[in-house]
Amino acid sequence: MYKRQRILRRNKRLRYARIRTLVILVLIAVGSVAFFYTNGKGKNEETPANSYAVDTVESDDTADSHNVDAGDADTEDRNVNGTDGTENRDVDDTDGKTENKIIDDWRLILVNSDNPIPDDYSFDLSSLDEFRKFDSRAIDDLKKLIEDCRRETGGVIWVQSAYRDRGTQERLYNNKVTQYMNSGKSREEAEKLAAASVSKPGTSEHEVGLAVDFNYANPGFENTKAFKWLMENAHKYGFILRYPDGKQSITKVIYEPWHFRYVGKEHAEVIKEKGFCLEEYIEYLNNQQ
Ligand SMILES: [Zn+2]
Repeated sequence: MYKRQRILRRNKRLRYARIRTLVILVLIAVGSVAFFYTNGKGKNEETPANSYAVDTVESDDTADSHNVDAGDADTEDRNVNGTDGTENRDVDDTDGKTENKIIDDWRLILVNSDNPIPDDYSFDLSSLDEFRKFDSRAIDDLKKLIEDCRRETGGVIWVQSAYRDRGTQERLYNNKVTQYMNSGKSREEAEKLAAASVSKPGTSEHEVGLAVDFNYANPGFENTKAFKWLMENAHKYGFILRYPDGKQSITKVIYEPWHFRYVGKEHAEVIKEKGFCLEEYIEYLNNQQ
């Protein structure tokens, strides 16, 4: 009799144990499905499937990390050259402001915190892909730059952001201000800090369709094969690194290795050769007239 009760109790325990195991397995399965679903979804949002937004080569940019030293050296060399050409120039002479009143060339439109986009500035846009647009007069050079960069480096390059309408720029700027305010800054401080990395609406080159942000638009872009190639070749396609390292006092924008600006080939050539940023180049041209 006792033996039978013991067997019954043991069977009951075994049944509970089996149910517990089953419940745990189901939870693990549900968890895994949810994990892969969210990850896959996130990836798709960052890299929409179109040819200029996403590299067709299935390689990972982190594989480029061996280029870190080369990239750094490249940047330093360029800055040294820039300083050589401009060391006697007193930035304070211009009161930190550069105006482009004389030069009549759409490629050299100066857009920065001191020079908002003129109300009557008009231009046509062409589509780079389903989501991204660029100035129609410069889009072919941008396409060629991307194609050649991919072919010659085998590296990853894609357009994160090109033309932005006023509403998009407003949203980006306001988000940045909110971020700073959430970290305890006053509105005034937050707006000042935000403007160093996201231009105020009306003062962004993205709004005139001549600026492009590559890949994830983050500092890590400096360590990629694509960046190294751009530093050597972008000028041949009419593009310049718009916010170089060491020029923040003039551009009022932090070093942005991912942001390139179209200025046309002959201008880009001189800017690269002299190590200028756009503000310095325009002042140089104005002084020559
Ligand atoms: Zn940008």
